[in-house]
Amino acid sequence: MRKKMIAGNWKMHKTNAEAVRLVTQLRRMLEKKPARKTEVVVCPPFTALVPVAELLKGSKIQLGAQNIFWEEEGAFTGEVSARMVKSAGAKYVIIGHSERRRYFKEDENIINKKIRLALKNKLRVIHCVGETLEEREHNLTQDIIINQLEWGLKGFTADDFKRIVIAYEPVWAIGTGKTATPEQAQEVHAFIREILNTLYGSQVGTRITILYGGSVKPENAAGLLSQPDVDGALVGGACLNARSFFQIIQASEGA
Ligand code: PEP
Repeated sequence: MRKKMIAGNWKMHKTNAEAVRLVTQLRRMLEKKPARKTEVVVCPPFTALVPVAELLKGSKIQLGAQNIFWEEEGAFTGEVSARMVKSAGAKYVIIGHSERRRYFKEDENIINKKIRLALKNKLRVIHCVGETLEEREHNLTQDIIINQLEWGLKGFTADDFKRIVIAYEPVWAIGTGKTATPEQAQEVHAFIREILNTLYGSQVGTRITILYGGSVKPENAAGLLSQPDVDGALVGGACLNARSFFQIIQASEGA
């Protein structure tokens, strides 16, 4: 049985007071109607990790960071290490998000180093992959995915993969309101499993949790989450509101 997960990527949103309000509301909703089959993860900005971790004590909601630096420590002004986010209470970290690839020029080599450090520091990884619109239109989706899975995850063992979740996030669907159809998502998810089985063996692809991300909302969540190879969602915009994030969690529970 693969783990189901709904993770919220808050991006650069929410002051600490706003973060506390959001998590308090979410926690209350989940206390009334607990998620029994779905792991729920919230990924606030670094500044809110500690107050959110405090609020999550005694709850099943897990905490994730949105990024880490690729070195253990040192003179890297403005960066945050794996050990720091771990000590702030994070269990997960998102790595390889398309916004980091685009605005901070993160390539597979950097992503590979970050995943390595995350695992070394006993963090679990949500590793994002996905093609741009131009790549899809040129029929390059499969090539892009193979490249990201081969180089981003190079050198990891079947055991390492137990602590990695993949998020398929077509770049053209992130924050655009355009969503992949359930069939489009299913097709790529199945392909990701096949490639992971080929590259890393030991049924890595069959066992791994694969999330879909890209404008997931309460209205489209059920259709996406009912696909056999879609195990959950990485949610951006809709996770900034407790009610809509909760509704997506409910869709996962019902899938
Ligand atoms: C994301 O940031 O990972 C994401 C999927 O964003 P949105 O849901 O807003 O498209």
